[in-house]
Amino acid sequence: AKADTGSKLRLYAPGIREEMEESQRLVSDLRDALDRDEFELYFQPIVNLPQRAISGFEALVRWNSPTRGQVSPGLFIPVMEANGLIVRLGRFVMRDACRQAARWPSNLSLSINLSPAQFKSADLVGDIRKSIETSGIDPRRLQLEVTESLFLDEADAILETLVQLRRLGLLVSMDDFGTGYSSLGYLSRFPFDRIKIDQSFVRDMSRSENIAIVRAVQGLGAAMGMTVVAEGVETAEQLAMLEAEGCTDMQGFLFSRPRPASDLAKMLVEVRNG
Ligand code: C2E
Ligand code: CA
Ligand code: CA
Ligand code: CA
Repeated sequence: AKADTGSKLRLYAPGIREEMEESQRLVSDLRDALDRDEFELYFQPIVNLPQRAISGFEALVRWNSPTRGQVSPGLFIPVMEANGLIVRLGRFVMRDACRQAARWPSNLSLSINLSPAQFKSADLVGDIRKSIETSGIDPRRLQLEVTESLFLDEADAILETLVQLRRLGLLVSMDDFGTGYSSLGYLSRFPFDRIKIDQSFVRDMSRSENIAIVRAVQGLGAAMGMTVVAEGVETAEQLAMLEAEGCTDMQGFLFSRPRPASDLAKMLVEVRNG
């Protein structure tokens, strides 16, 4: 059997074999990380400009790995989506975010990202209901953020789950809008409460196509009764251009990077004082 394994492994170039071993190590480290509570929520403010105030925070997960340091979700979320570990991570995120937000001033909303894989899990609605009940948070303060990729398969079942979630009293956001497929159809079939303009459109607002897209999404939001949030605002110039298009709600490094929960009070003061 040993010789057999050897001949199979020789089918791969050495670099590929190392990559496969590293990816297996990553999965096993992520499983351990869930057992050892190595995940932590950071929070990034969503700002309402007319009120000059933070209207809420988006929870963004971080992995504090004892061997790898702090790892960004762009690296581990796709891996956890591929092997189903995202369901356990999602339960942690939901439970911990609700627990923390229940102690915030009650005018602040809490946005939580949901992956498509979580919709395939046994009881997403039940899990979320439990987090709401245990924390005591008012469900109307909760925004669940989903992306268009959610609708790639079984759109009817997904829409039904979203309807059930909304019946719990919480709100639903369309995240990264404009980067996926057939988004307009889903906007009319499901009552989203909020639409987030993807940061790729905000990044280069000097391009007239991007200004046109921002303008179109603003119009869509106004016509359909959805709040529009512009993401990835980094410069005063972008802020001015967005304001000129009528954007009132924004998120980005210009206001604050995502920071740990211990910085929440500081963020509330800093944004108010500009
Ligand atoms: P997202 O939901 O689109 O979150 C926004 C991302 O943009 C965050 O990256 C945030 O740090 C970053 N960002 C915010 N403002 C700016 C800005 O002005 N400039 C730039 N360049 N970036 C900005 P982060 O925290 O690395 O998260 C990446 C993605 O990982 C998220 O994108 C989301 O899709 C996913 N993610 C994060 N936390 C969770 C979670 O708890 N559950 C799930 N399912 N996915 C998560
Ligand atoms: Ca998001
Ligand atoms: Ca986004
Ligand atoms: Ca994104």
